[in-house]
Amino acid sequence: MPTIHEHAQALADQTVALRRDLHRHPEIAFEEVRTMGVVADRLRALGLEPRTGVGKTGVVAVWDSGRPGPTVLARADMDALPVPEEKDVPYRSQRDGWMHACGHDGHTAVLLTVAEVLVARADELRGRVAFVFQPAEEIVRGAEAMLADGALDGIDADHAIGLHLASEHPTGVVAVREGPSMAATDSFRLTLHGRGGHAAKPNEAVDPILVASHLVLALQALVARETDPVDQAVISITSVHGGTAFNIIPEAVELMGTLRTFDAATRATLRRRIHEVADGIAATFRAAVTPDWIEGSPAVVNDAAATARLRAVAARVVGADKVIASAQIMGGDDMALWLQRAPGCYFFVGSRGGEASGWPHHHPRFDLDEAALPLGAALLADVARRWLAVQDG
Ligand SMILES: [Zn+2]
Ligand SMILES: [Zn+2]
Repeated sequence: MPTIHEHAQALADQTVALRRDLHRHPEIAFEEVRTMGVVADRLRALGLEPRTGVGKTGVVAVWDSGRPGPTVLARADMDALPVPEEKDVPYRSQRDGWMHACGHDGHTAVLLTVAEVLVARADELRGRVAFVFQPAEEIVRGAEAMLADGALDGIDADHAIGLHLASEHPTGVVAVREGPSMAATDSFRLTLHGRGGHAAKPNEAVDPILVASHLVLALQALVARETDPVDQAVISITSVHGGTAFNIIPEAVELMGTLRTFDAATRATLRRRIHEVADGIAATFRAAVTPDWIEGSPAVVNDAAATARLRAVAARVVGADKVIASAQIMGGDDMALWLQRAPGCYFFVGSRGGEASGWPHHHPRFDLDEAALPLGAALLADVARRWLAVQDG
């Protein structure tokens, strides 16, 4: 039997072809119908019995070695973005306005390869692997939808694993961090209701623009003055809408923004304080506020033991000097919800191989260095194998 690394390399052409097929046919959040079909067909070809339509367009397939042992949950996200592709490659998106601009085509192809590798090595393994192909990561709703739809009913996972390809790191680099590694991402809308009127008679109106101005500043004090400086939090007001003319005080102003945190207690406190400060500032200036809180994903928290295992595997696959500590990332990922069900590790695999793959994620020219795909497959498969090995090795 070849090593896992050799095995993944031997399947590299197939993995690349699969990724290119998915790249040609991108589907955005909860629209991954064709992708779901491709994934399910591949899994069936491996002898698995996938459940499709989980959380609308998700797929779950459990592979059972037939021997008692732990259960590993391996997750890939499948969704593309509403970004028009600007690069001219043979596998260019055939769907106007949609593009795999974050590498989830690669994640899906990699996890299918992992399934093939592990199923072929059944003799070495015990326990089970739950392969989870998740829709709608980009709007952080897919994991939630799958779980609500019973994705893990009857599956008691002991370990969870997943990866994100990363154009900020060169191919061959693996970046990972123990503990909180990606932020909880919540969004909110604060609608300030004043009383409209003539701009020359502000005393007869209640000016929601003035209230909004105070509120934008006051919210920053929650981070600057109420959050432990060694903890991390960001409040960004990203949209201010109100008013129509030079001489009219509008009725209302709508603010939108996002809260990013790592610590669950900090997240809860800031959520409460954003509401209190909005109420207080509005009341001070005789206005009212209607809040709308859009709860996002919790922080991605990597288990220490799982992270150590990933590091050890990665050191063998890419060399110890290529395994680096990832910075904490203020962006979020709903891998967090799978990691809440089972301790595990979510890590980054460098996918920058040159100029063409040096564009940032979500850019219309984003691309992957496809040499990263077999590496990613080897890493996931090897970590799973170590958890499931009949004999330690
Ligand atoms: Zn993305
Ligand atoms: Zn992504």
